[in-house]
Amino acid sequence: MPKNEASLSPHVLIFPLPLQGPVNCMLKLAELFSLRRIRTTFLNTHHIHHRLLDCTDNHTYFTRYPLLRFDTVPDGLPEGNPRTGDQIPNLLNSMDAVAVPIFRQMVTSGGPYGPDSENPVTCIIADGIFTFAAEIAAEIGVPLLYFDTISPCGLWTYLCLPKLIEAGEVPFKDDNLDEIIINAPGMEGIIRRRDLPSFCRTKDLNDRIIQLVLKEDKHIPLAQGLIFNTFQELESPILSQLLNISPNIYAVGPLHAHLKARVESLTGPEFRPETSTNSIWKEDKSCISWLDAQASKSVIFVSIGSLAVMTKEQLFEIWYGLVNSGSKFLWVRRPGSVIGADAELEIPLELSEGTKERGFIVKWAPQEEVLGHPAIGGFLTHSGWNSTLESIVEGKPMICWPYFVDQQVNSRYVGEVWKLGLDMKDTCDRAVVEKMIREVMVLKKDEFLETAAKMAELAKSSVAEGGSSFLDFDRLVEDVKTMKITRK
Ligand code: UDP
Repeated sequence: MPKNEASLSPHVLIFPLPLQGPVNCMLKLAELFSLRRIRTTFLNTHHIHHRLLDCTDNHTYFTRYPLLRFDTVPDGLPEGNPRTGDQIPNLLNSMDAVAVPIFRQMVTSGGPYGPDSENPVTCIIADGIFTFAAEIAAEIGVPLLYFDTISPCGLWTYLCLPKLIEAGEVPFKDDNLDEIIINAPGMEGIIRRRDLPSFCRTKDLNDRIIQLVLKEDKHIPLAQGLIFNTFQELESPILSQLLNISPNIYAVGPLHAHLKARVESLTGPEFRPETSTNSIWKEDKSCISWLDAQASKSVIFVSIGSLAVMTKEQLFEIWYGLVNSGSKFLWVRRPGSVIGADAELEIPLELSEGTKERGFIVKWAPQEEVLGHPAIGGFLTHSGWNSTLESIVEGKPMICWPYFVDQQVNSRYVGEVWKLGLDMKDTCDRAVVEKMIREVMVLKKDEFLETAAKMAELAKSSVAEGGSSFLDFDRLVEDVKTMKITRK
């Protein structure tokens, strides 16, 4: 493209936190931009990029999204690092030391996307935790939008943290986790101490994550707008609160359903099959044939996402609960997700027999497809935000066993506000697991399925033509088209 034409046209650079969940939904946003003919550069880490390429049909992908380009930076971690949830502070430190200087060089004068380049970036969309993006964007005069890929209800508790600290609600004064939280506007009567993000349980305000969140709170209002993977009909009270922080909010989710809806309206052969999963693990599709042989709504799907880990004791509590519940189950056991259990586990006979009869275990599943399968009747989940939205879209009730960050808030909203399932929270006990599965899969099955079906309908309408997320995305596209670099 000739220089003057390129420099006039919008060019978005998207920089996700290099983890499966944020990459998944930010890439879907990039794909949506590409469908709307906006040039988009997706800045991956080398590690994530190689894993994505390994799991994608590259030819189909790049034919479908010709205006989407990838670039990479190192994340600074040794290749053998497991990059699990407990490694996030290390990942952020090494990104700061290694990736951020390269990013800065890329977007400033002389860099491949700098203002004098053939390919100047006209808008940066960065993960909300990347506080450096606000400083760099201001320095180079490029508009910045933050995309917080956690739930808005989770983010709102982050933003309330200074107030909670000032009011003496955090750190907790004693061990009573059932104490109601007062200083989170819009969440009165809903949130207890145990429903605040996991990092609020620290006694030490100098904790690395608390400090990071406080820094994020200061930087978020510096962006020109905030993008969320949610829809108005699900979270409008929280989105109204967030308008006090940023008057320009785009609620464009659920992004996986949004992308699917827009792709379905296109006709070229490159748009079949309709979904791309953006997975960084190879999906084991054998579970779909197994599901095909099961009765409608008879199987509970179990997954703790890409970062959470559990102890061996917790593994056995869940396993006994599943087997004793009498339900069929499909269980994702991601390698490395059970601490210290990579060697052979000694499995009691009743568990191996029960699993042979009623269970199916895979290392990684095509989760969206699994949740959409008619045989699935419920989801035992760690309440990651992508997983929660995927379950909502498919109308599947949840049993929530949150692990960290926003997941404690999400599980509370699922159980208490949206009535889409049960919140197991801080318990991991075989009798509780069994009881909750029986409740969701048998005793209150119709009630939960009915509420979930109504919410699924709202989710799908929000991304259909004229729906709230559909219109917010169109507004985002129009705003991005008019964004300009302000020369200093
Ligand atoms: N996922 C998947 N297959 C699996 C387990 C998870 O494709 O077997 C996907 C899931 O569909 C979701 C993402 O991994 O999009 C996990 O993101 P989430 O925000 O739910 O949790 P996180 O992994 O960030 O804790």
